Amino acid sequence: MEIFEAMAEQGHEQLNFFYDQASGLKLIVAVHDTTLGPATGGTRLWHYDQEADAVWDALRLSYGMTLKNAVSGLNFGGSKCVIYGDPKKSPELFHALGRFITALGGRVYTGEDVGITAQDVELMAEVCPYIVGREATSGDPSKAAAYGTYMAVRAVLMEVTGQASVTGRKILVQGVGNVGLELCRLLAGEGARLVVADINPERTDLAAKLYGARVVDGEALFQEEGDVLSPCALGQVLTAERVSTLRVRAIAGSANNQVATPEVPALLAARGILYAPDFVVNGGGVINIADEFLPGGYQPSRAMAAVARIYERLREVFRVAKEEQITTEQAAEQVALRRISAHRPGPYLPAQGA
Ligand code: NAD
Repeated sequence: MEIFEAMAEQGHEQLNFFYDQASGLKLIVAVHDTTLGPATGGTRLWHYDQEADAVWDALRLSYGMTLKNAVSGLNFGGSKCVIYGDPKKSPELFHALGRFITALGGRVYTGEDVGITAQDVELMAEVCPYIVGREATSGDPSKAAAYGTYMAVRAVLMEVTGQASVTGRKILVQGVGNVGLELCRLLAGEGARLVVADINPERTDLAAKLYGARVVDGEALFQEEGDVLSPCALGQVLTAERVSTLRVRAIAGSANNQVATPEVPALLAARGILYAPDFVVNGGGVINIADEFLPGGYQPSRAMAAVARIYERLREVFRVAKEEQITTEQAAEQVALRRISAHRPGPYLPAQGA
């Protein structure tokens, strides 16, 4: 792999490799952009077949964090920490990680992501002041992520029906885990009709019992007629094949990386299905964390008020997409990148008369 070529592709600023022999920690920290502020992004522990895969993942995910933070109106850049080599978890491993993040001097903040528990995060925080999303501060972000997704459902409904209300609307929710089930609570509370699918029957039973959801089997959800599809399970769900038969008017869900292949946003637009880009919809988690940095420290009501603004952000993305005749995915990326450009220091100009 050509490291600098890889960094140049999406304009990464910095790529760090840390190794702690005693604990076996091999850590990759990708910093995409710090124009808006310190780079933030969770730490991921995942199995990779080879080093290059882990590096690519760190690069790709940190770029995604830059976009998400920027479009969410936060003064943060994007980063991602990836633990490579399937090490055995231990206090020493997370202490080493915490020391390495500390050594970056505040350029990078991190916290939980796939494969990392709240306990792991506490271990990092024992030696590092740059850890966010701890139990004692903003804690579990899934409620905020669900509330943001609910606001996104309202935003797409406003766009396609002229009314934001979910009352009487039929919403299809894929994945009723932490985010999906809370989303069902919010939607049902306002009289939406729910259809859900999940590979875990205990979760669908809960959705049926608590919120009157109708349960269908996996693939059948994508054949249902409805107002909004809300993917809240895993990524890559919007394949070209599924998109060709969807019977919904809009898509707004919390899952990361919903689009399976690059042509999907255009296919959705061609079919007249409004797509709310996932990294705008699911910004609730990071917006909630960002409240830790505001005066007085984390305040849940202030954080939720900020999450609610996902509604206006999406309306802006839809406006840009229409005006510039581009997909909503491209529009969201534009909104994020323009915000960064506006803050980037320009070329050096000597002061007048100097
Ligand atoms: P979770 O693990 O609690 O829930 C995911 C649910 O999806 C589980 O119930 C699982 O059984 C189900 N599922 C998995 N594969 C499925 C499939 N093929 N078909 C149907 N259901 C399936 O995760 P979560 O915290 O609720 O997050 C949901 C999504 O939102 C993820 O993509 C996550 O990355 C994203 N997200 C979460 C947060 C957060 O704060 N939790 C923030 C931003 C984005």
